[in-house]
Amino acid sequence: MAENGNGSVKEGFKMPEIKYTKLFINGEFVDAASGKEFETRDPRTGDVIVNVAEADKVDVDLAVKAAREAFDHGPWPRMSGYERGRILHKYADLIEQHIEELAALDGIDAGKLFEFGKAVDIPGAVRMLRYYASAADKIHGETLKLTTAHQGYTLKEPIGVVGVIIPWNFPSMMFFLKVSPALAAGCTVVVKPAEQTPLSALFYAKLAKEAGIPDGALNVVNGFGPTAGAALTSHMDVDNISFTGSPEIGSVIMQSAATSNLKTVSLELGGKSPMIIFDDANLDMAVGLASAAVFFNKGEICVAGSRVYVQDGIYDEFVKKVIECAKGWVVGDPFDPKVNMGPQVDKVQYERVLKYIEYGKRDGATLLTGGKPCGDKGYYIEPTIFADVKEDMKIAQDEIFGPVMSLIKFKTIEEAIERANCTKYGLAAGILTNDINIANRVSRSVRAGTVWINCYFVFDADAPFGGYKMSGFGRDQGMNAIEKYLQVKSVITPIYNSPW
Ligand code: NAD
Repeated sequence: MAENGNGSVKEGFKMPEIKYTKLFINGEFVDAASGKEFETRDPRTGDVIVNVAEADKVDVDLAVKAAREAFDHGPWPRMSGYERGRILHKYADLIEQHIEELAALDGIDAGKLFEFGKAVDIPGAVRMLRYYASAADKIHGETLKLTTAHQGYTLKEPIGVVGVIIPWNFPSMMFFLKVSPALAAGCTVVVKPAEQTPLSALFYAKLAKEAGIPDGALNVVNGFGPTAGAALTSHMDVDNISFTGSPEIGSVIMQSAATSNLKTVSLELGGKSPMIIFDDANLDMAVGLASAAVFFNKGEICVAGSRVYVQDGIYDEFVKKVIECAKGWVVGDPFDPKVNMGPQVDKVQYERVLKYIEYGKRDGATLLTGGKPCGDKGYYIEPTIFADVKEDMKIAQDEIFGPVMSLIKFKTIEEAIERANCTKYGLAAGILTNDINIANRVSRSVRAGTVWINCYFVFDADAPFGGYKMSGFGRDQGMNAIEKYLQVKSVITPIYNSPW
């Protein structure tokens, strides 16, 4: 049995002081025009951490106005890529000086593991920022070969004001996944963080100012989706929306863009990713990876490998070992270094995961381990495994966004491919095999934006990331991502007395 939610925090550790709770518009921290605030809560206890200014349409209008002015007349899009890159590297330096504080903010806001935040989340966000900082002076067009006597070339220009709307599961990574390429391209940005995790984004706003990012180039408006989020997506002066979140809201955002100014949109949506384990895979590695793929970050990860397909030759042994492995996951306070899994982000998510566990039982899946809340306060849930899962069950089709593994036995490669592709999602897939032909064949047949072979959760700033099917379109990460924030302009002039 995993420990319950009462881990002990390392001695001497001091919770960070919450310094920034207002909106960040045009380089200043300001109250919401309405004076409204909302509570952000600590998922370890359900208690309020602090009240944060709540933006609605009026504040979003002010933030977009500042971003528009900074784009149309300010220095940011006009300075050289080299200079923008230099400022973005300075921004990254400043973040590196505050890693512990930032990891702690995401820890109390989202229930994320503090040690992991220090080692991976915040350094990963910095890596993203540096990748695009280094790309800022490498954005250029092409020389065209026209059929007439004309000289032609393309210019790549920043698209304008970018609205960024992000979820709560990786507050720091999500922020820089979008903001870094947009700023590097010369765009100005208005970020609407998730209402569950408003704190680290405000710290990043403050550091942006300190780094020398001009006023208005980066604005942060905390608030709720139907008010602040909708005001951004429907705004006539926003040129692009970069969104990560659920398919339901992705669809609302596309409609809003279509019925306002036809702004461009990119959507990174949910997933129900398959982990396909073949008979010849290293069994211990398979058990470890399959568990991590769905229990890491308490299953609150869009690429969670929540459907685990195991070939019949190793199925029984795999099941025995994976139950043992799940029982070894320590659930508890994410600030305790011994803990592997913190609380779900909030009450809504906690109740949603428990409801899905009930659906699993109701629909006839066999509960092998877990299935219950743990701890006497906060939103902790045991690592949970169901066997005998059928593809038509809700737990095999819907994104649960919690620590719930569905085990499914298969016989042949063809069957594995067909079953892996049988959801509306197509974000990621894992393939575990030592046979290169199986690995190649399956990776080409699975409809997913990322395929990991004999590994999982390997993210890199240089590896394009995004979905097939209802997991969305457009790519974050890699040089492709910067294209979302650029326009291509053809420039053509006549050539007189040309020798060619
Ligand atoms: P969500 O779609 O409810 O919310 C995401 C963001 O959209 C939040 O900031 C929210 O305030 C905002 N929003 C809500 N309604 C809006 C509206 N009408 N107009 C504009 N903005 C609005 O998703 P969630 O529950 O916060 O996050 C979980 C979902 O995000 C899961 O489905 C998960 O798979 C997905 N996700 C995807 C990725 C990815 O990269 N593909 C990464 C993380 C999370």
